[in-house]
Amino acid sequence: MLSYDLLVVGSANADLVVGVERRPGAGETVLGSDLVVHPGGKGANQACAAGRLGARTALLARVGDDAHGRLLLESQRAAGVDTSGVLVGGAPTGVALITVDPSGDNSIVVAPGANARLTPADVRAAGRLFAAARVVSVQLEIPLETVAEVVRALPPDARLVLNPSPPAPLPPEVLAACDPLVVNEHEARYVLAGGPQPVGATPEEWAPALLDLGPRSVVVTLGERGALVAVRPPDGSPAPAVHVPSPRVRAVDTTGAGDAFTAALAWRLGLGDELPRAAAYAARVGAAAVTREGAQASYPTAAEAAAL
Ligand code: ATP
Repeated sequence: MLSYDLLVVGSANADLVVGVERRPGAGETVLGSDLVVHPGGKGANQACAAGRLGARTALLARVGDDAHGRLLLESQRAAGVDTSGVLVGGAPTGVALITVDPSGDNSIVVAPGANARLTPADVRAAGRLFAAARVVSVQLEIPLETVAEVVRALPPDARLVLNPSPPAPLPPEVLAACDPLVVNEHEARYVLAGGPQPVGATPEEWAPALLDLGPRSVVVTLGERGALVAVRPPDGSPAPAVHVPSPRVRAVDTTGAGDAFTAALAWRLGLGDELPRAAAYAARVGAAAVTREGAQASYPTAAEAAAL
């Protein structure tokens, strides 16, 4: 029977990037560089990262019946991802319109397009993919009601990894299913702001506070400083956060590092690693991803991650 190490449910976007001398103000037109189009979107990025590592990966997403959709499907196939769950049509492929100035600062407008049409019914119709998955990874660039349906569709022996990006209020049943909830510092602050107690000043204090909101485990990514992991003890005693360092590398472009980290983490958890070990592997993959330009184009193979 078919089985997947990882099922990713999420967004697929075409990133349309233009370099500009200065990002335009209101009512202003500026000339830019030639347009560059990259495959992106958090779901597609994660699936691509896992596929590059050698994970048996499937993607459940929706793209338009257009050139951007075909670009996204091609990049998934090149990474070895099973795209039989990618639905085509209903709206144009999601697009991120990105202007970047010489200092590297950017302005981004996202047109969600087909991502906003990935429905709970689409999740229910994908029972075959869920039944075959050890781990399901989801983010928030698709409707929240669809994410909630993913939680309901999760087989009893499968694990859910959630990266709440872009941050949004999460229903308790979604938070309770996370094992782990994966957040960067910005997302951690957002999730904690919705919690009952005052937020501590340091990430070490955030991890247990995030656990108090319901997830079974938590990972806080800290860029070049690596990550913190915390697991809820069965007896409910306070859970100390464990620091997992990241290899030191020369960072060229951090775009998509978080997606590479989360995909690698989810894959290794499905293979049976404990959370700190899986996070240490994921930190290598995240670090490798920042040594090259781009998001999907920067993702390492398992051999490249091991060589770091
Ligand atoms: P992004 O939004 O850029 O995709 P993020 O904010 O979601 O990323 P980060 O915490 O920046 O996530 O990065 C994820 C992981 O990638 C980190 O935990 C770390 O292991 C690795 N990483 C990121 N930046 C660096 C760096 N400069 N040096 C080494 N490792 C890095």
